[in-house]
Amino acid sequence: MYLVGAGPGDPGLMTRRSLELIATADAVLYDRLIPPQALDGARPDAELRYVGKEPGKPAVEQEQINDLLVDLGRAGRRVVRLKGGDPFVFGRGGEEAEALAAAGVAFEVVPGVTAGVAAPAYAGIPVTHRDAASAVAFVTGHEDPARDGSALDWEALARFPGTLVFYMGIKNLPLIAERLTGAGRDSGEAAAVVARGTLAAQRTVAGTLADIAERVAEAEVRPPAITVVGRVAELRETLAWLERRPLHGEVVAVTRARAQASELSGRLRELGAEVLETPAIRIEPLPVDLPDPSDYSLICFTSPNGVRLFFAAVSGDARALARARVAAIGPGTAAALRGHGIEADVVPERFVAEGLLEALAEEPLEDRRVLVARAAEARDVLPDGLRERGAVVDVVALYRTVAEPLGEAQAEALKEATYVTFTSSSTVRYFLEGGGSPPGTARLASIGPVTSSTLREHGLEPDVEAERHDIDGLVAALSADATARRAGAR
Ligand code: SAH
Repeated sequence: MYLVGAGPGDPGLMTRRSLELIATADAVLYDRLIPPQALDGARPDAELRYVGKEPGKPAVEQEQINDLLVDLGRAGRRVVRLKGGDPFVFGRGGEEAEALAAAGVAFEVVPGVTAGVAAPAYAGIPVTHRDAASAVAFVTGHEDPARDGSALDWEALARFPGTLVFYMGIKNLPLIAERLTGAGRDSGEAAAVVARGTLAAQRTVAGTLADIAERVAEAEVRPPAITVVGRVAELRETLAWLERRPLHGEVVAVTRARAQASELSGRLRELGAEVLETPAIRIEPLPVDLPDPSDYSLICFTSPNGVRLFFAAVSGDARALARARVAAIGPGTAAALRGHGIEADVVPERFVAEGLLEALAEEPLEDRRVLVARAAEARDVLPDGLRERGAVVDVVALYRTVAEPLGEAQAEALKEATYVTFTSSSTVRYFLEGGGSPPGTARLASIGPVTSSTLREHGLEPDVEAERHDIDGLVAALSADATARRAGAR
């Protein structure tokens, strides 16, 4: 039996030990506030059981959870009891461990990164500081401070020489502030509330003990949130980092195929965006009868998928390209070739078929045999242009792009998007024809003119078009657009 902390929300803050245990567990019993994707690494046959509270429904009683843990432990199953943050900080992990100990069930405790330290850190607030706080207290804000016999000694908290960090205190914030100042804490002392800390949707409201409750109410901050009281909260003005990222607060939908989405998604997340993967397409390899590559003097690749499937067709043997000159449209395609030990001879500056034709302008093509390896549905600009110049062109369709229907949950999540990105004409077509509709408030971002004109064909005007027609270019354009809008809003 393992009592495991899953950290405050950012999946990157899960410990190595927690991931190891989740990956090998027979069963995972989890709470509400665990990071999204925390269970992704669980075995497909593992039992995943939610035992947390659901709004409007009675929670599974703690005693029932304890009994369940004891039963599973006695049955000799490998069980992970997964909790948000640290299991022994306001997580009732102590009680669960006691129940296990009383029943003689062996257990291990895996500490986690606790929200009371991590949420302030992500907001630019160190909970201790040589000049501002030599001590920190973790306090529950869940107690009804008006109730007689509260476990909290408000006089002592008011006198506490350091930072106060309240968990579960949003509902009671007005009373907490009142009690503290009533007991003598300076009402001008800095305070900050960090909601959804460490997640892309993190929000911070800052103020003083006198006005923090009002500001939080105005900002309609919702739990989970941490409240920090202390001079350290002022450091946020200099140290805030997450909330200053160019795409912080943006929800960006990525419509490209799931297998290709990770680079774009990763880049967007690094810039602070919350990413929704709503793939509109999927790449379906076609059965191919690849002609002998050594019969060609020029081989053109138009996409990384084409490169990948070409090499699959030649069983990975790079000698297939030993005799031909190699052309690649786009740096991603060139990089995919490089991954197979091939340095493309021609990489046009413009990453479209027309660009490749321009780049080949000086090259004699008369009677040369050219192979174009590409998608079934690609435009005929390239083969037609090559034939006009006298080349003998064969086209091999290595894959086709098929629709990936949008799930209900994805369609729902999409309503929150502030940007929808399109990285090819096929993402536009399949997204719109597959019933996807960008919310009216979302800005549409296109990777280049071809994709933009497909958007216009569907009656949509792109708000952002990348200058460089690749992932870097798209990310740069989005980031510039978001920054400009924020500056404009100020
Ligand atoms: N064991 C957990 C705390 C559980 S109590 C830990 O160590 O972090 C639940 C409270 O934790 C919430 O009411 C809130 O105050 C805080 N909390 C959890 N996740 C949070 C987050 N992402 N941002 C801000 N506060 C969070």
